[in-house]
Amino acid sequence: MNDDVRNELAMLREFGYTHLDLQGSPVSRLPGSPAEDAQSTTGQPGNRATGQPLDDLAATAHDCTKCRLAGTRTNVVFGVGNPDADLMFIGEAPGRDEDLQGEPFVGRAGQLLTDIIKAMKLTRDQVYIANVIKCRPPENRNPEPDELEACRPFIRRQVELIQPKVIVTLGRFALQSLTEKGYGISSVRGTWLDYNGVKVMPTYHPAYLLRNPAAKKDVWADMKKVMGELGL
Ligand code: URA
Repeated sequence: MNDDVRNELAMLREFGYTHLDLQGSPVSRLPGSPAEDAQSTTGQPGNRATGQPLDDLAATAHDCTKCRLAGTRTNVVFGVGNPDADLMFIGEAPGRDEDLQGEPFVGRAGQLLTDIIKAMKLTRDQVYIANVIKCRPPENRNPEPDELEACRPFIRRQVELIQPKVIVTLGRFALQSLTEKGYGISSVRGTWLDYNGVKVMPTYHPAYLLRNPAAKKDVWADMKKVMGELGL
């Protein structure tokens, strides 16, 4: 058994798996993955408008001063990944590491999200990752309603431009802010919802999993549904 296989099995065990069904179809890649589409951009050009709609939107976000978070941010954290992704992960807001690096989900919770993506047989480059809030709330406090409202047009336009087949929302703020509905995360987690014709799978936030590792198996069950929907 090589190291990749060993790591994969360790990951699945971490996510609560005790048995493997080996009768499924071979691993497939998402259409539009970097390997298939070498021209795709990340939609993260720093603050350069390029005429590509996602890059232009990123440039607008980088100049945004619509709420008080503009005054305390180091970087705007717009989003990363494949602009043609079938699968989009949407989180809450950048933390300290994300604010410093300008990239979503690169801290401890981000490492866990990266592990989840790998366990789905995907890479961060094949999916698209963004937050409903683009600038770090000071001391990682919860986003305020007016901040969520000011930032909402960005995530909604990102979804319009990327046109994913499936969105995974991570935690309560991502789900509620994207949809503008008062869903309770524990009542809808693991059930398919709809956002403007896109299938939405609400699941727990990776930061919650760091505090409650027993919930990893629930998230993995949700990701299995996503994989089934995407034919992975
Ligand atoms: N938590 C989030 O919701 N988003 C990030 O980018 C990092 C941590």
